[in-house]
Amino acid sequence: MRRRQARRLAAVGGRRTGRRCVGTGCHLRLTITCARLTDVSMDKDDVDFGFREPQRPYDSGSQRARVWTEQWVADWLYCPNCANPRLSQFPANTPVADFFCAQCNDQFELKSKQGTFGSKIANGAYAKKIERLNSANNPNLMLMSYDSASARVKDITVIPKHFFAPSIIEERPPLAPTARRAGWVGSNIAIGRIPQAGRIALVSDGVMVDRHVVVEQWNATRFLRDQSLEGRGWLLDVLNCVEAFGSAEFTIDQMYNYVPALSLKYPKNNNVRAKIRQQLQVLRDQGIIEFLGHGRYVRRWRA
Ligand SMILES: [Zn+2]
Repeated sequence: MRRRQARRLAAVGGRRTGRRCVGTGCHLRLTITCARLTDVSMDKDDVDFGFREPQRPYDSGSQRARVWTEQWVADWLYCPNCANPRLSQFPANTPVADFFCAQCNDQFELKSKQGTFGSKIANGAYAKKIERLNSANNPNLMLMSYDSASARVKDITVIPKHFFAPSIIEERPPLAPTARRAGWVGSNIAIGRIPQAGRIALVSDGVMVDRHVVVEQWNATRFLRDQSLEGRGWLLDVLNCVEAFGSAEFTIDQMYNYVPALSLKYPKNNNVRAKIRQQLQVLRDQGIIEFLGHGRYVRRWRA
């Protein structure tokens, strides 16, 4: 337990002070101060959710929206990976990513939309997306919903890059021969297949979510970065099963109900039950679920 606490403390750049963490909503419940978090000077109540009018006229609505939304992120968002108070913008037209953190080097791709996102999001070239899955510069995905009538941010969800596995990236049909980029194969990101644990709200219904909560939620699943793509795929599948139960508490027998579906997905694995138990152990060791004994478990995040 002590080692886990030390790891989480190191992850938020905290230090032991003999005092309780001063942040509201901090679930670490240690006698620490999360140094980086309390160093953040901006108070969440000061955030202006309205977009700034661009300096020069833009001829299309989508160009204007892009300038507005990117400017807002540059003005107000922090890095959820290391709590650096500012994100830096890449020069325009940089492929794949839009922002980076100068402190931890994580990259972020921003997708913004008037209204809410569906369960699939069109993304870049399929081959490139798959190739980048395991690379250090694969970007985290930031989804911003805004209201164009009031020119205000409504919701921002970030999906950490460690939640991306090949099964989340769908191949789209090649573009028609008559298209300008005939034969080009794009991708869809199947957001609906990402567990709730990997959809982290930064802004919810026009309110900034407490950054302690955000960083803690982010750090809780950071261990997925150390997994192979196959291992990550298994853990995400098991997380999705755990979230599908009506209550936080569940049994191993309930998990075994997913054996037929998982066997179909992993036809080469002939001991799916053992694989499920192994994944539950990994999640337990990381503090994501708790083992209650006699085949009973409880998940520790809200689904
Ligand atoms: Zn960072």
